[in-house]
Amino acid sequence: MIPVRGVAGQKIGVLGLGRSGRATARALIAGGAEPICWDDSQTARDAADAEGLALADLSKDKTLSGLAALITSPGIPHLYPTPHPAIAAALVAGVPVDNDIGLFFRSFGGDDWDSFDQTPRIVAITGSNGKSTTSALLHHILSEAGRPTQLAGNIGRGVLDLDPARDGEVIVLELSSYQTDLARALTPDVAVFTNLSPDHLDRHGGPGGYFAAKRRLFAEGGPDRAVIGVDEAEGRYLANQLSEGPGDDRVIRISSGQKLAGEGWTVFARKGFLSEYRKGRQVASIDLRAVSGLPGAHNHQNACAAYAAARTLGIGPRQIEAAMKTYPGLPHRSQLVAEAGGVRYVNDSKATNVDSAAKALGAFDRVRWICGGLQKEGGLAGLLPATGSVLKAYVIGREAEDFARQLTGVEAEVCTTMDTAVARAMAEAEPGDTVLLAPACASFDQYDNFELRGEDFTARVRAGLS
Ligand code: ADP
Repeated sequence: MIPVRGVAGQKIGVLGLGRSGRATARALIAGGAEPICWDDSQTARDAADAEGLALADLSKDKTLSGLAALITSPGIPHLYPTPHPAIAAALVAGVPVDNDIGLFFRSFGGDDWDSFDQTPRIVAITGSNGKSTTSALLHHILSEAGRPTQLAGNIGRGVLDLDPARDGEVIVLELSSYQTDLARALTPDVAVFTNLSPDHLDRHGGPGGYFAAKRRLFAEGGPDRAVIGVDEAEGRYLANQLSEGPGDDRVIRISSGQKLAGEGWTVFARKGFLSEYRKGRQVASIDLRAVSGLPGAHNHQNACAAYAAARTLGIGPRQIEAAMKTYPGLPHRSQLVAEAGGVRYVNDSKATNVDSAAKALGAFDRVRWICGGLQKEGGLAGLLPATGSVLKAYVIGREAEDFARQLTGVEAEVCTTMDTAVARAMAEAEPGDTVLLAPACASFDQYDNFELRGEDFTARVRAGLS
């Protein structure tokens, strides 16, 4: 645990008592503060009560009036579509609103660091897609290279649950736009931006607010190095804004698909090969076709991001290459769950938006595509150019008919349930086909989360094959 600094004797509100909220409360207590906790769910309150945490409704003026700060969880709206009542009240009362990420950056450095040979470093990774894969891959590369490392944030542990840093350690943090938007301190040593496509627009008041939330990681923190995906205009703009000139190697531009020329530091993947250039010269290359845990152009972008971040930490190209070859992949992201009769079954339940599903489709030929769920704003038009490899779509979800109607030019069967979709796809699959779950939608109409959706797919595939 990381005890929170500078809060001794203060009363601090903790709104949201999931994994990170309860870890925050414990870290505040360890720092000498008195957390006052709340969650709108009775079950979450009961769990906190059982842990001995003090509870009070934080939207009540009398609870709020004595607070030095209000710490909130990422799932709770802080501005759009409307702030949660407790946050709205804090904004009126002038109580500073922050999150566990802000507390972490203020509290992580310790007095014992003076005796370390190598100061611990923090790498923070954000972007619309590929954050978890890039974070897990970087963590794997560092572990394989023998560097002490911990993984936290949106993936793995809550940040305040981390162990105190060891000599030379690298902390890899995956940060969502909700987290970067709110944190009052954001000071990573290396910051990574993978890409940008529309997502969570309701929580950010539109695309401008969404990009602004991600940009805070670079604008607030002033990282020593910034690794920026430049395959969209927003990434190119950000990289431009952060660099002093074309040769400024504090900014490393990365791409999947484009050759990045110029005087600066670049890492890009083309035709299955990753290349690193510095000052106009190629310094390393890796054959990504031999890396089975990272299939498809989207994963090659993640490989470039993790490679670039690892290089800033002094890891050599050959060490990175060896580690990539043993990267096991993450569940629910391009995860091969079965192979039988020449048919591959791939679980990409984490493809919850149009861009990620389009990328997943692009990674395979001859796809029997299980898709659908709770659609996000912006419609499905962005998917259509990616459906060239689709033999047939098997549509699930409560809005399956509407989803199928939007798939113009694609043969689509309304299946509604996963059970039916898997059975139909299995019955029709031929050797060489890939049955791919890449929903392009949130899961909440039928499942509590994308993990349960992916597990359901996997279980039904395995049952169908046994
Ligand atoms: P995040 O943590 O940002 O949601 P993940 O690594 O969990 O990212 O990947 C989420 C989904 O997005 C995956 O299921 C995959 O289909 C897709 N994806 C992964 N990396 C990329 C990328 N670089 N660009 C676009 N889509 C991606």
